Amino acid sequence: MDEEEYVCSFCKCYSFLSRYVCKKSGKVMCLLHAGAYECCDSKESDRYAGAAHDHILSLRMTDKELKAMVQKVVDRAKLPEAWAQKVDDYLGQEPRPSLKILRSLLNEGERIPFDIPQLADLKRYVERCNEWVEEATIYITRKQQNRAKGKPSRKKSTVAESDERDKELRNFENMQKLLATADEIHFDCPEYKTLREREADINDFKAKAVAICMGQQHHPRSTQEIEEVFELGKGLNIDLPELENLEKLLNHVKWLDEAHTRPVHLQTLQEVDVFINRGLEIGIPETNPHILRLRDARTQGEYWEAKAKEIMSVENVHYQQLDALSKQAAGLPVTAETLARVDAILKKQREAQEKILALYQQSKNPDFRSRPMYKDVRDVMASLEELNNKPAGTVDLEKEQRRHEDWMRRGKKLFGKANAPLHILHQHMNLVKERNDACFELRDKPRMPVEPSSREHTPELDTKNNFPDVFCLCRRPEAGMMIECELCHEW
Ligand SMILES: [Zn+2]
Ligand SMILES: [Zn+2]
Ligand SMILES: [Zn+2]
Repeated sequence: MDEEEYVCSFCKCYSFLSRYVCKKSGKVMCLLHAGAYECCDSKESDRYAGAAHDHILSLRMTDKELKAMVQKVVDRAKLPEAWAQKVDDYLGQEPRPSLKILRSLLNEGERIPFDIPQLADLKRYVERCNEWVEEATIYITRKQQNRAKGKPSRKKSTVAESDERDKELRNFENMQKLLATADEIHFDCPEYKTLREREADINDFKAKAVAICMGQQHHPRSTQEIEEVFELGKGLNIDLPELENLEKLLNHVKWLDEAHTRPVHLQTLQEVDVFINRGLEIGIPETNPHILRLRDARTQGEYWEAKAKEIMSVENVHYQQLDALSKQAAGLPVTAETLARVDAILKKQREAQEKILALYQQSKNPDFRSRPMYKDVRDVMASLEELNNKPAGTVDLEKEQRRHEDWMRRGKKLFGKANAPLHILHQHMNLVKERNDACFELRDKPRMPVEPSSREHTPELDTKNNFPDVFCLCRRPEAGMMIECELCHEW
């Protein structure tokens, strides 16, 4: 439609919501001038009545619609005020307003397209709370972070930085300060509750730790109990003097437990030494009976060690002493290697002794064929020289050996080989035996003298089947150069 059709013909005002149109003249009027203004030749009363339907009053909307619209506008206009009222009401009724509700209020306020003076204040307030929550979250989640870290790829400076930060976070006072700040800001949130619970846990642990440390002299707790509380404290991941004290106490108690339960003679000298030093390091006093007892055992062990080394170093080892030392070692902390060396020597010695005894017994056997061979005895005697010692029975066996050697000497003399070595005697004895066998050969029957079968070759000996021709005095087959007998002329 044209603008013309909305403008009052009389006053030229814009008639948007309602207008009056004269069909006769096509003129438009506002409601102030409708009827009164002479738009056509109809009577004024007729124009007002509109009875002839030639004058029309048109409305853009109903009264109801209009009122609703007005109400809407009014409501919209009231929004900032209503919001501010809501905020005031909430803050007024809640001594510790919840951050969650504050945040949603802020969100709501920000959506109102109007510059509300209270909004900026609320925003500042919520931001402060958010900052606090951020910091509190670090305290709360630090446990998990600690477990996850340990990657060595980080740079030194950042490690130092994070260590510094970690130290701050491990400080209980910082945590308490943070809680105090939340009280000051005056608001509530789940993180605050969590942090307060942690604080309560820490205080609870502190009380327990103090009770244990103070009461240990009169009511000593079991190691397990102390350890449980200590683990609890460690799990808090906070630096506390109470935790340090409890750790000291725990180390003490554990050391004492160990001192009670670990028999000193079942430990090596080194272990005892380490154990004493560990005790002194964790602050066990030098006058502690366990320290005194262990030190005494250590001194004895060291003395044993020196003694064992001394005995083993001399040329003729004194076995009775060594044996006594070996027995003594069962009740002392000693070096495992030294004891092994001592026992090895003793074992060798015992073995040699057993061998000697066995050989001696064997040499007394009535059946001389069951007696030991000279070589075996000589080998054992030679091995004794390595041992630097003569175990019991050696002298007897030596006597037997000498008897045997005397017998052999007599044999050598008998066969004219007094100065020859044994293998020459052996050779000679074999020769004698052979000659003897030839002389007493049963197959050698009396016969007429014969000539050797050949002058050139020595015939192959075949003693099994064919007894060879044997000759005159030596009763041996033809061999090398033969000499004719003057009497029988046999070879
Ligand atoms: Zn008008
Ligand atoms: Zn008219
Ligand atoms: Zn002859």
